[in-house]
Amino acid sequence: MSRRRDFARISRGLRFRLTTSYAVLFTLIFAMVALFLRERLETSLDKQVVAKVDGDWGAMKGYMRIEACPDLDNKLTTAWYYDQEDPDETTIVFDLRKIYMVADQNGNPILDCASREAAVSTAYEDIGVEKPALIQQHVREILAASPKQKFYLDRKTTKGEPVKVRYGIVYAEGHRAPFYVAVGTLYSDKLTVLHEFTWIYIGVIPGALILGSLLGFFMAARALKPVLAVAQAAQRISGSNLSLRIPTREAGDELDYLTLTFNRMIERLEASFQQIRQFSTDVSHELRTPITAIRGQLEVALFTAKTTDQYREAMFNALQDIDRLSQIVRALLLLSQAESGQLVLQKARVDLREVVDDIVEQFQIPAEAAGLKLTAELPPECPAQVDRVQIERMLTNLLSNAIKFTPEGGRVRTVLRCLADGIELTVEDNGRGIPTEDLPHIFDRFYRVAGDGAAPGPEQGLGLGLSFVAWIVKAHGGKIEVDSTPGKGTCFTITLPGEGVGSDTLELVGQA
Ligand code: ADP
Repeated sequence: MSRRRDFARISRGLRFRLTTSYAVLFTLIFAMVALFLRERLETSLDKQVVAKVDGDWGAMKGYMRIEACPDLDNKLTTAWYYDQEDPDETTIVFDLRKIYMVADQNGNPILDCASREAAVSTAYEDIGVEKPALIQQHVREILAASPKQKFYLDRKTTKGEPVKVRYGIVYAEGHRAPFYVAVGTLYSDKLTVLHEFTWIYIGVIPGALILGSLLGFFMAARALKPVLAVAQAAQRISGSNLSLRIPTREAGDELDYLTLTFNRMIERLEASFQQIRQFSTDVSHELRTPITAIRGQLEVALFTAKTTDQYREAMFNALQDIDRLSQIVRALLLLSQAESGQLVLQKARVDLREVVDDIVEQFQIPAEAAGLKLTAELPPECPAQVDRVQIERMLTNLLSNAIKFTPEGGRVRTVLRCLADGIELTVEDNGRGIPTEDLPHIFDRFYRVAGDGAAPGPEQGLGLGLSFVAWIVKAHGGKIEVDSTPGKGTCFTITLPGEGVGSDTLELVGQA
């Protein structure tokens, strides 16, 4: 059972599949080449046999004549004319006379003048002399056909060897009646060559199979080695050692691309892990401060307070810290809901002019109290598809920061522009500004510019306001930019997509 499962696992592997594909491919190619070559070989051998029998036929007509034989009562017989002293001619004629026959037009073999025997070779008798009727039919066919046409027969010896026979007619000088002549050539050599070829190939195909399999096996092993290396390297990477990277082979191939993609993914994972770690540290730190303070207040109440006023003061302080605690928890909860996508934007068509006007109005009193001039430049109307509550929260955060960080006598200016390709909202102050080195971090959770936390107390910010602003802008498919010069002021510019445009998704891309 387990062996069967092992086989199933191996056969699903890339290496096995590549190997089988190679083997099958090799075998198919070899088989096809073999078939093609065999076909070509057979045709070419056939042509050779035909050329040989044609040559024999021509030689026959040159060396043999049909004429009256004085020794046989001047009967018409075959007579061979060649130089008997010449060994070449003797051999040629000897070969010609191996498979031949000559008959009259009625199909009766005639005699040979020299040997006084029938002009039919023993080998021809072996392949079977045509019946007189067949010879008569052949003669008729030849007479009816064009003089250029050639006639062949395929015969076999009693041993089964193939013989190609060419037949035709010749005339005796001074006679009108044609004579039937057939000459044959044995071509068992051709078959031997074909058989040898076939057997060689039958032997070669398993060889090709083995070669293809071996080649496939090694090629697959070579090709898959880096994949396995990548997999092993990936296995070593866990939550605690995300700094590990898979080394690239610098081959510039698909596997390097895969490795790079993998490494980039791990980089992003590492960044998220780091963020989560930082977040937990920040949260515990933020919570610890008020808790320690509450503990201190209560200890004071318990061990040193004597009068009711002292008790009251300790209680009051503790309550303030508890307020701050619940404020942090509420803000965190909201932010985590936003980031996990649980906070769904309630988008509706609203007039942003009205929204901005309302909020700026609400801030007039605190601005006046801080000795600031708060102004708003608004278009007559600015319809947009947004979540009113979140946009109000966004503007509230920006305005409260501007008022908080602008000294007395300063001014805060809010400008809303309804442009053709989107909406632009700026909140600008001429306050203390943000140091350049802090600018990239102000949207991080719990980030406060050094010095803000110098006076801990209920007014101290949580460092969460801008994270929330950033989330709201992104959730609306917008963009936030900040421009600040220390000592001169800060300007936040938010661009939101025009009416109806924008994303409904709550996914927070990047950090809050
Ligand atoms: P907080 O709730 O503490 O204000 P924020 O996330 O809203 O936190 O802001 C982060 C930090 O950015 C603040 O601590 C402050 O130092 C700086 N900051 C934000 N807005 C302004 C501004 N308009 N002028 C100067 N500094 C600002």
